Amino acid sequence: MIAEVIVDILNKQVNRSFDYLVPSHLERIIKVGFRVNVPFGKTKRVGFVVGLKNDTEYNKSLRSISDVIDIYPLLNEEFIELAKYIANNNFSFYATALETMIPSALKIKYKKVARLNTENPSDELKEIFKRKEINLDSLSDDKLKIIYDEKELGNVILDTVLKKKKDSNIVKYVKLIDETKYTSKKGLELINYLIEFDDLIEMDLLISDMGYSKDVINTLEKNGAIKIIEKEIIKASKEIEYKDIRHELNNYQQKAVDEIDLASFDTYLIHGITGSGKTLIYMELIEKAINEGKDAIMLVPEISLTPQITALFKARFKSNIAILHSRLKTLERYNEWKRIYNGEVHIVVGARSAIFAPLKNLGVIIIDEEHEASYNQMNNPKYKAIDIASYRAELHNCPLILGSATPRISDYFKALEGEYNLITLPVRTNGKPLPKAKVVDMKEELKKGNKSVLSYDLANALKKRYKDHEQSILFLNRRGYSSFVMCRSCGEVVKCPHCDVSLTYHSRTQTLKCHYCGFQRPNVSKCEACGSDKIRFVGSGTEKIAEAVNLLIPEAKVIRLDLDTTSKLDDYEDAFNKFKNKEADVLVGTQMITKGLDFENVTLVGVVNADLALNYPLFDATEVAYDLIEQVSGRAGRSKLDGEVIIQTYNPNHYVIETVKNHDFDSFYNLEIRNRRLSNLPPFSNLVEISVSSKDCNLAYNEALNIVNNLKKVKKESQVLGPAEDFIFKKNDIFTFNIQVKILEDIVEDKIKEIYPYYQSVKDVNISITRKWLYENSIYGNTWIFSSNFKSIKWKIWSYISYFSA
Ligand code: ADP
Ligand code: ZN
Ligand code: ZN
Repeated sequence: MIAEVIVDILNKQVNRSFDYLVPSHLERIIKVGFRVNVPFGKTKRVGFVVGLKNDTEYNKSLRSISDVIDIYPLLNEEFIELAKYIANNNFSFYATALETMIPSALKIKYKKVARLNTENPSDELKEIFKRKEINLDSLSDDKLKIIYDEKELGNVILDTVLKKKKDSNIVKYVKLIDETKYTSKKGLELINYLIEFDDLIEMDLLISDMGYSKDVINTLEKNGAIKIIEKEIIKASKEIEYKDIRHELNNYQQKAVDEIDLASFDTYLIHGITGSGKTLIYMELIEKAINEGKDAIMLVPEISLTPQITALFKARFKSNIAILHSRLKTLERYNEWKRIYNGEVHIVVGARSAIFAPLKNLGVIIIDEEHEASYNQMNNPKYKAIDIASYRAELHNCPLILGSATPRISDYFKALEGEYNLITLPVRTNGKPLPKAKVVDMKEELKKGNKSVLSYDLANALKKRYKDHEQSILFLNRRGYSSFVMCRSCGEVVKCPHCDVSLTYHSRTQTLKCHYCGFQRPNVSKCEACGSDKIRFVGSGTEKIAEAVNLLIPEAKVIRLDLDTTSKLDDYEDAFNKFKNKEADVLVGTQMITKGLDFENVTLVGVVNADLALNYPLFDATEVAYDLIEQVSGRAGRSKLDGEVIIQTYNPNHYVIETVKNHDFDSFYNLEIRNRRLSNLPPFSNLVEISVSSKDCNLAYNEALNIVNNLKKVKKESQVLGPAEDFIFKKNDIFTFNIQVKILEDIVEDKIKEIYPYYQSVKDVNISITRKWLYENSIYGNTWIFSSNFKSIKWKIWSYISYFSA
């Protein structure tokens, strides 16, 4: 028997499988989806078996698989094929894609054991089983063969044993921050392991299972190669008890549920304003699927996986549900995965990677808040959960449901073009209209002599809520006290020595921090350039806003919620519960507070500085800004009380502000899609961004230029822009140049596919390729017709081509 194996070496030749002989004692046990150890060159590597066959075209003598790592296939055919699709569409390696799909616990060495499962073992077995449980790694091939044969007869059980950890609530994780800072061979080995593992890993596991000493880890930490992060794990007892309250579906909800056909593949976009009751629709659909004996996956952004939501789903679906959030320890995560794999649960709710849940018979896939950027994986393979969902839904012939109050422009486009089914929920379940927002021009405020971060309108509104015992939320798009520290005499700004950004002042700790690399230093009292003591804090962070509120209403209780105040996960819950129990009057926070929170007593939402969100140099910055402001406005007036929203801005005439204040998504969409069309941006081109970085600025630039020139040689219609300096040009001492490619031809796509593997062997240069938007699998054949009535024409050409090339 011959196995086709994908070896986990990332270089340009190995994005394909290699043939290996299967030794006879493994023939029975080995299956597609197993990981195996194989000799590769002079080294021993891990590989995935992706195929089994009897012949090979390879005519030299084949090498043999050394042994198997798993005792059951981790991935079935669906995932093996899916990995190929992911690698191919995201400029990544097959091996990387395969690894992404297995729980990280299994990337750690674990014990494989055998136990006797018979009253009357053969003599051979008696000979082997001197103890009740034996370690497979200690057995010779002959004995292994006996074990595997007896396993087929049911006389032996195989099992994997991951070491159990002490039940502590604080878990230490190791994070790689600088792979160059090692001083010993062991240190380098650990760093290489961390690169491969590509995730936070529990320190305990490194020590007990991988055999690294505490010294090695401590030295690496001292040298700045790794960081040890403590996370508190929420105790089970803290979970909120929730009763399974079942509202009757209202007419819109009922219509939505009725319209969705669970019997076939199709994509539905539910465009429902905040508070329109999308969650109940999701639950109904899941229940319908389950009643038909099928499985369901629902993705929610990590940030919305609140105890509230978790409890709601658990109340309804009891033990039939697995919830995968990042607070699970590696082992707990693995146990959940195993329950899913074994078919013990049929519903999976989780963040991005839950899309790989090994459910076998999907009846529905739901993606809530489908516009969220967190559904896009930032590391290789840079997949988009929506693409995977679509792939799986089509394969399982079930519907894909996308839900949002502010859909991605590209998805809304598809819905309007008829590619998706559009379902609209225009009213809130409480029957109240969305509060119209009032826009305050901060330039005018300054003219009136108001230098506070709170406009007169917002200040008065806050006072009124305080008097009426109602609560307010103030939203701000940044952390810290002020954004930067500037000398008033010479204009010098205190910057991070490793990054091209200014440091942020944090008053509680009296430090200046870099929000990109974590660098921190004590606050300055004198300008380091000119010696002046006229230091000024510019901008306003959550801390400063909280202070301004207390200046306004000294008795008001203010809670801050941002990444700084919630370093431990319990902090988030505590703050959340305090506010919910009305122990505080004002909640000041960053992005963290925009989603999902449902506080009935909140009647005022203030967006302190809307401009920050508008000015990012990303093609989709405007839609992100629209979404942020809309979501945070949606926190007001969710129950019986009326809500009020105040937006402070220096750009009151910006089309995002003008449309979002009336919650007029359609007008925003129309303006936005016109811009996209004019600039050939998604959904009108397949946009790919190539980032080239290096510690050597010239090297990075030259390589970027090479790539641009090579792409320009082959393109006709496609546009190649750049190289341009990255938004944060220098980050952690590394310089980055970006190239944007608006792909309209296959040949350009093919050329880009060669770049990433090629640069694996080029020293000192790092390449990162991100697909921002992909229309269809690999068809760019036709030229796009950008006329006002191009809709129907284009789609016809499109389907024609897809049909004939299928
Ligand atoms: P969305 O996700 O669309 O913003 P939610 O699903 O969070 O909205 O629902 C908003 C609120 O409306 C929740 O408090 C929910 O319990 C309530 N709700 C949902 N459906 C109904 C209904 N049919 N009747 C009454 N209340 C409902
Ligand atoms: Zn920095
Ligand atoms: Zn100065």
